[in-house]
Amino acid sequence: MADKSIDNIFHADKAKNSGRIPEGFVYRDQRKRYPWWVKSTDHITVETDVSTIEKPTTNMIIMSVMNRMSDPDAPSQRKNLIKKITNKTPGFNLPDASLLFASQTFWQSGIDIDGLPIQGYQDLRKIIDDQVHTPEELGVEKWEGSELEASAMVEKAAIHLGAAQVGFTAIDLTWLGPNVSISPDVKEPVASREGIRFPPSYKYIILVAGRVPLWAAKCAPSSLGSAADRTGYEEAHTTEEKLINFIRGIGYGASDIHMMGINPIPFAVMAGMGEMGRMNRVVSPLFGGAMRFAVILTDLPLALDKPIDFGLQEFCRHCKKCAKACPANALSYDTDPSWEPLGPYSFKGKKVWYDDCEKCGAYTSSSGSYCGACLASCTWNKGNKTALHAVTKAIGAKIPSVSGFLAFMDDLFGYGLVPEETRKKWWGLDLTVRGVDSSAK
Ligand code: SF4
Ligand code: SF4
Repeated sequence: MADKSIDNIFHADKAKNSGRIPEGFVYRDQRKRYPWWVKSTDHITVETDVSTIEKPTTNMIIMSVMNRMSDPDAPSQRKNLIKKITNKTPGFNLPDASLLFASQTFWQSGIDIDGLPIQGYQDLRKIIDDQVHTPEELGVEKWEGSELEASAMVEKAAIHLGAAQVGFTAIDLTWLGPNVSISPDVKEPVASREGIRFPPSYKYIILVAGRVPLWAAKCAPSSLGSAADRTGYEEAHTTEEKLINFIRGIGYGASDIHMMGINPIPFAVMAGMGEMGRMNRVVSPLFGGAMRFAVILTDLPLALDKPIDFGLQEFCRHCKKCAKACPANALSYDTDPSWEPLGPYSFKGKKVWYDDCEKCGAYTSSSGSYCGACLASCTWNKGNKTALHAVTKAIGAKIPSVSGFLAFMDDLFGYGLVPEETRKKWWGLDLTVRGVDSSAK
């Protein structure tokens, strides 16, 4: 029988509270999480309407992407990449392409260059699983502690293992497809062609953020820019796998639900990792668009985090820097967000600046890169440790109507994407560790 908190998250009526923090959970003190200008809230800053929410199955989403990728008339990433390497296009030289492939070595294991299917993942998972030594195997008691202690411990472990930041929230069926269900018949999450089932005890979600090295990211859209994008995913996913092993090692269950096709974005927003921005992606007050997420589902009882508000909804109304950076014209220039989706792969139910995923997908396919120009150009990408950037961010959060001016200044100072010819200079830069801007948090 479901307990009170499970009732709260999984009950059908919960849908009308979508975007509001779930009741019946312990919450962490949010005051030390961010600078003073980031508010903690009980509701996400995006309006949602569950009566119109479209819930495509995860299989449908995956198939729609795969169909497009395998369309014989669609130019493949591989073909266009080879053309650009041969033509010596800046950012697409052989070392740039090789750096891209090396950057995604572990995360992409089993996925080929055209993004086709995950064959090797189960084998890789088995090798990683073998590294866990559970309390049962060691003949000791499993770890016990409060939710607050568990969150503090997991956060420390995650940072040690390579995460830039972590966030905690609860599973919410509102954000998941109709083929995802809670089932007391399974002991751990199970994915099959019919759908995804997980046991009621798996109700805690951990968001793991990986940093994107900004100097390479600014070379987007190119292989170099994509190497930065994949580095963020690689960091998030390899850290996630290690963190799963840590949680299993203290005696609890944990699974990677991202690899099952579950989208981490709504959970990232619920866990206060950022707000939805004009690019229809998560923007962090600390890292802007220079972070990527992995997501873990666990039965380890955790204290949760709350959504945040740093004025981004107003800021994005005037900034528009990502829309200007998009080479596919896939992002909205409208001043206000809308309830109307753009293109066939956007789904109704939220008031956002929709992106046209079809245009974005077609561009990434034809350009021979993963693009990421929108994320790499975001005005919030700067670090916080320099006084100027910290003050600028505080102004942006508190007086978001000046965002047009801040975006203009951003351009003036040369932030954002670099011109094509400048990409060549990346190999001559004095890089910090992993190319990450150490002035950021
Ligand atoms: S990834 Fe590139 S093509 Fe896609 S929305 Fe962003 S900038 Fe546009
Ligand atoms: S670049 Fe500007 S408009 Fe786009 S998401 Fe970032 S802050 Fe918003």
